[in-house]
Amino acid sequence: MAQMIINGERVGAASGATMEVRNPATGELVDSVPRADAQDTRRAIEAAAAAFPAWSKMLPTKRSDILMHAAHCVKEHLDDVAQLLTSEQGKPIRDSRIEATRFAENIEIYAGLIKGGALAGKHMPLPSQNATGLVVRRPIGVIGAIIPWNFPLTLLANKIAPALAVGNTVVAKPASTTPLSTLKLAELMLEGGLPPGVLNIVTGPGAVVGDEIIRHPLVRKIGFTGETGTGKQVAKAAADELKHVTLELGGSDAAIVCADADLDLAAKNIAIGRFFNAGQACLAIKRVFVEDRVADQLIERVAARAKRLKLGSGTDANAQMGPLHTEKQRAEIESQLADAVARGGKVVAGGERPHGGEFERGFYFEPTVVIDVPDGARVWTEETFGPLLPIMRVRDLDEALDKANSSEFGLGSSIFTRDMGKAQRAIDELEAGYTWVNAVQIAHDELPFGGTKHSGYGKEHGTEVLDYYTESKSVVVATA
Ligand code: NAD
Repeated sequence: MAQMIINGERVGAASGATMEVRNPATGELVDSVPRADAQDTRRAIEAAAAAFPAWSKMLPTKRSDILMHAAHCVKEHLDDVAQLLTSEQGKPIRDSRIEATRFAENIEIYAGLIKGGALAGKHMPLPSQNATGLVVRRPIGVIGAIIPWNFPLTLLANKIAPALAVGNTVVAKPASTTPLSTLKLAELMLEGGLPPGVLNIVTGPGAVVGDEIIRHPLVRKIGFTGETGTGKQVAKAAADELKHVTLELGGSDAAIVCADADLDLAAKNIAIGRFFNAGQACLAIKRVFVEDRVADQLIERVAARAKRLKLGSGTDANAQMGPLHTEKQRAEIESQLADAVARGGKVVAGGERPHGGEFERGFYFEPTVVIDVPDGARVWTEETFGPLLPIMRVRDLDEALDKANSSEFGLGSSIFTRDMGKAQRAIDELEAGYTWVNAVQIAHDELPFGGTKHSGYGKEHGTEVLDYYTESKSVVVATA
């Protein structure tokens, strides 16, 4: 049985309780993990608090060396981590390997930045002749990192890489269905030299472990990724202790396709943007608005790409899309599709569970494209977290922008056009934290990422994330 990591030790829950982790492709048991309670969680928080003074005061160059070595240790075991991730999450093994690699690279990026002076503050001349001003940046303290199941390693790295590099210590809680790859990574980092207590992993229900992390006064900042509804609960609970909070929440990204666009490019990027990770991505194209004149051509191209995608178990090297993560997730997509069809929507690709062989056991659903769905349907108003894409015909760019902005979410957005004037309007007017122009919708480590409106607040990635894991302090030094 896998164990939690608390204060550098592999431990079970004090109660001895456990939870099962099952494979979404087969329903088989992969392993069990401890089902921690609030008391176990407090032990982890206290360990992180005890480790904070030494870790935060360590020379940044030394912290950087330790993190580089820990990342190296992860890189030597990428296949083991990727296999665990595929067996618990369901994604194709190739994508799991990329995710594990990006985890290690993120640790390296922030370890490198910190060595390169990323904690630099500033010197400010003051009006008084006999005083000088400084702004210094300091770590915050114990960070609580709460992670969902769709990209367990990427979303963990987005928080712990900058947090640890600047000198914070961490208590992380993976989703209950994807704890195994996270525990493995933490073990590897410990073996790689990370001091005890600097990174603790507690497994257990969100409402128990997550809640304790959010409410405990020793945790000074919460980095949360998950559903908008959960994020609102997190923000309210964290307010009692006035904690810093970063909320990376749900999305319903619009892609606008103008009549002058390269339609092959648009169709290709829309298919990737919707069906990657079986559509279970926050940054995913979930609504398409296409100018009427080219709508039929675009729909035909996107539908053809959806039909070509090869479904299969994550361990099948040829599979391009795995099962959905849980039965609940599949049932939700089916119910959103049924609502769209009941309102007059027409399915032009997919729409069914695939049948036969391995498909009977896993939570598979075909990549699906639906058209002619009127306003008000759930596919327009809710987040669709699976391989379901509605495409709507619009008169012109004005209508497309209106529809795109009518969502409560504001995470990502895309436009496909050859007209730079139209692209500029999208950049200026789309209410989202990211806009891609004729580009594939993936988040780059170099650029800050985070939503607006009900998609949350705060940034991950880039150097901007460092502002969210440090506090500044102003200093006045009298010179006479
Ligand atoms: P979720 O909100 O159900 O769970 C996320 C995490 O919060 C899990 O670890 C869960 O155990 C924990 N949790 C649940 N209830 C809690 C509580 N009361 N207190 C504290 N913690 C609690 O989300 P999910 O279903 O795992 O993930 C899918 C959602 O995440 C989607 O909405 C998706 O868009 C969003 N997401 C957002 C981003 C982003 O960066 N914006 C990235 C990935 C996923």
